[in-house]
Amino acid sequence: MNYTSISEIHQQFEAQRQFKEKNRKLSLEKRLSGLQKLEANILNSEKEIQDALYKDFKKSNVETSITEFSPTLNELKFVQENLHKWMKPQKVPSPLKYLTLRGKILSEPKGNSLIITPWNYPFFLPMTHSISSLAAGNTVMLKLSELTPNINLVIEKIIKNTFLPEQMKVIFGSVEETTEILKLKFDHIHFTGSPKVGKIVMEAASKNLSDITLELGGKSPAVIDADSDLKSAVKSLIWGKFVNAGQTCIAPDYILADISIKTELEKILKEEIQKAFGDEPQNSKDFARIINQKNFKRITEYIEELKNLNVPFLCGGNLNENELYISPTVVSEPPNETKIMQDEIFGPILPLIYFENSEDAVKQIRSKEKPLSLYIFSKNNHFIQKIISETSSGSVCVND
Ligand code: NAD
Repeated sequence: MNYTSISEIHQQFEAQRQFKEKNRKLSLEKRLSGLQKLEANILNSEKEIQDALYKDFKKSNVETSITEFSPTLNELKFVQENLHKWMKPQKVPSPLKYLTLRGKILSEPKGNSLIITPWNYPFFLPMTHSISSLAAGNTVMLKLSELTPNINLVIEKIIKNTFLPEQMKVIFGSVEETTEILKLKFDHIHFTGSPKVGKIVMEAASKNLSDITLELGGKSPAVIDADSDLKSAVKSLIWGKFVNAGQTCIAPDYILADISIKTELEKILKEEIQKAFGDEPQNSKDFARIINQKNFKRITEYIEELKNLNVPFLCGGNLNENELYISPTVVSEPPNETKIMQDEIFGPILPLIYFENSEDAVKQIRSKEKPLSLYIFSKNNHFIQKIISETSSGSVCVND
């Protein structure tokens, strides 16, 4: 895939910078008509989107529909239904001593925005962040991940058919191009990706005092209480963990379960994984591949370390490098110092660790970085409330 040249990046940036004042005056109707055109062009491209994602990492059509295509259309619908409310000035009551004054909050566009996206939901993430930014009256420079060339070309085509380049432009590139873009002064930068690159982006944004939103990754635990619907919890977790082959920012990273249900949990997990993917998960058309060699090697190293330490594998641990395939894998009680318990896994390996009581569960969650998401499976409201109130995470999901 040809990357956007540095001179074109500068030229496009200048064009958007000049256009942003005109763009900010776009009426509600004009913004909505841009989004309607985008919706029509996405609907006309469904097959191309499916084919491109299959070529990029064997993502199945069903997964594409559930995790890329439909959520993008839902976002478009939500924004189109609500934009008039969000654009409306809000009256603010004046305090008694300023009784003669009238206050209002006016929402305004930020100006020119830069959106940098990862590869793991390579249609939904770029589109959803762009939809928000365009609806808010900003121009958009969209830097896509270099790891998904096929879907990138489809996105570029859709955007070219919908918007003027000074309003929205797709940029292809890797580290060199992104480093160059980050030298430019944007009014807002929206970055989705790893914490490591997030730090680089934040440092670059600080040099221009650009506003910034960071959507990063991390380790998201799934806590299972002894008093829970275990079978239903396991089914949910298998879906959440192995969809996109575990390459999801909010995938349950590891299970933290009550030690008293260890035997039953491990038995049900093995049975349900077998039911979901069969004896040969490699032949399942519903199981995606690892995105590239670098990530395959990273995940393989986790597996090798666990095998060297004789950590029990309940299932999986099978690899096929030519296909970038790693089977759905479950390991029991890896030591806390192993890489798999320190890094964000971002692959189809599910470690199981255990707690003695709710105090211990809280302590174990708090011993790691704040999770992006936290999943709790329990019928006991006291347990649920304890975990919620004594830990902090980006979001909490109970019994789902
Ligand atoms: P990444 O951080 O490697 O890359 C993200 C983007 O940054 C890509 O466009 C890439 O080209 C660019 N980039 C990479 N190295 C760079 C550098 N040195 N300087 C400037 N730009 C650089 O992430 P990834 O591997 O594409 O995606 C996986 C990560 O994204 C995981 O950590 C995952 O949790 C996270 N993620 C978070 C969310 C969320 O909403 N919070 C959603 C999806 C993914």
